[in-house]
Order: sequence, then structure tokens, then C-alpha cells
Amino acid sequence: MDTSGESQRLRSAARQLAETGEDPRSQELAESLASVHERIDQAVEAAGRSDRPALIVVTKFFPAADVARLYRLGVRDVGENRDQEAAAKAAEVHELLAAGNSAEPAAAGQDLHWHFIGQLQSNKARSVVGYADHLHSVDRASLVKALAKTAEVRPRAVVTCLIQVDLRDPLPSDARGGAAPEDISTLADALEEAPGLRLGGLMAVAPLEEPPAPAFARLAELSATLRMRRPEADMISAGMSGDLEAAVAHGATHLRVGRDVLGERPLQR
Ligand SMILES: *Cc1c(COP(=O)(O)O)cnc(C)c1O
Repeated sequence: MDTSGESQRLRSAARQLAETGEDPRSQELAESLASVHERIDQAVEAAGRSDRPALIVVTKFFPAADVARLYRLGVRDVGENRDQEAAAKAAEVHELLAAGNSAEPAAAGQDLHWHFIGQLQSNKARSVVGYADHLHSVDRASLVKALAKTAEVRPRAVVTCLIQVDLRDPLPSDARGGAAPEDISTLADALEEAPGLRLGGLMAVAPLEEPPAPAFARLAELSATLRMRRPEADMISAGMSGDLEAAVAHGATHLRVGRDVLGERPLQR
């Protein structure tokens, strides 16, 4: 597989950084990224898959300087879960990369994709589409409506939206942060009709109440059902540091990994 060269490339970047000794944090990030790519390679092989999921590095709680380091190591997809933190960070990363690219400062970091993965309030829709071009947490019709009204403030013409599904089974009545499986097709229709929004596929977090594999298997089934009507909505965003292997085994196309790349987060807010 051509992409499995990624871990080797990162290991050799880490060795070079070790020789100069200038930026131990970049070296650390190169090593942890290489390890995560090795885990993905092994999981892909174990699952007998011919495709390889993409890695989104979740940078929440970590500073813009770390995102810039990741960018220089080749990372082009990062994930954030709080608008206030992400908006400021995206602007700061752009400045950091522009400072290092005097030839074309405006273009610096244009190929860095920000994925919004946290619960999204409708009143934050305008802010989020200012920097993020992938929203993994679309879970209700009112949010689709709010997003549809943001076309004129978006720098990117099209925002890819994933429907976040609550995989708890049975689904409690206090469902929050995730649509019920039976609401997927209505939300898919709403997204398809909204100007400038593209339906990318489905996203889920494994429920705490059960092992991840059966939950991700249900997500794969929901995705197959969705793709019967909308074959282009083929993204499955699933799998984090603790359960990426189970997600790869069940067809995840996008993994969201934070801790195992950046380290333990400071105390949760
Ligand atoms: C924080 C977060 C992740 C990353 O989790 P890790 O355990 O740090 O890998 C993935 N998805 C969502 C929705 C998150 O909030």
C-alpha cells in the first residue's frame, strides 16, 4: 500500500530532528504520529482492507504552535471541538505559517483542513464555517437551517457535513450530541437541499456503555443504508486513540485521533 510509507517518512523526520536537537516537541510529535500510522497500517492489514482511512489529528487543548509543527510534518487535517478555541487557533496557525512562508504569506496553510467535531450550537454556525470545511457533528434540522444561511460568510464554497449518529442502543430519551438512526434520511435530505452544504457521510463516537466493535458495526450498517440512496455520502468518521483498530475493522474512512499523537490533555473543561 503506497500510504504506509507515511510512518517511515515520519520516523526519518524524527531522526533528523533528533540530530539537530532544535525542537524536541516536533521530534516527539513525529514519533507519536509515526506510531499511530503504524497502528493504522496494522489494522488495515488485519481487516484485509484495500483502502486506508485518513487520519485527522485532534488538536483541542493544544496550542497553535503544535498545529504548525504538525503541518510542517505533513499533517493536513486537524480536528477541534470548541468554536472559541478553534477560531482563535486557526487564525494564529495561519499567521505562524505565513511568517515562515515569506514568498507567499497569504497562501500559507491554505491546504490545512479544519474539521469541527464537537457539539455545534446553531448560533456558532457562522463562526465555524469561517475556518472549518468539514463539520462532523450535524445532528438536527435546525442546525442545517442555520448552516444554510451562512453561504455569504464562508471562504470555501462548499462545506462537507457529516451526520453525527448517537449509537447508544437502546437510545435514551435524553439523546444529545447525535441524531437517532431513524432521523438520518431526513437530515440527509435537508443537507442535500441546502445550498453550499455537501453530505459527506456519517460520524459517531463509540458509546461508553459497550465495547466499540458492535457499535461501529451498527454504524457501518447505517452507512450502507445511506449509501444505497446516496452513494457519494461515503465518509465514515469513527475511531479515536482508544478504539481506532475497531473502527478500521468496521470500515471507518476517517479516524479522529488526539491523545495518542499530542499526549494527555490538560484537565477537561
Ligand atoms: C477529543 C475527541 C476525539 C479524540 O479523542 P482521543 O481519545 O484524544 O484520541 C475524537 N472525536 C471527538 C468527537 C472528540 O471530541
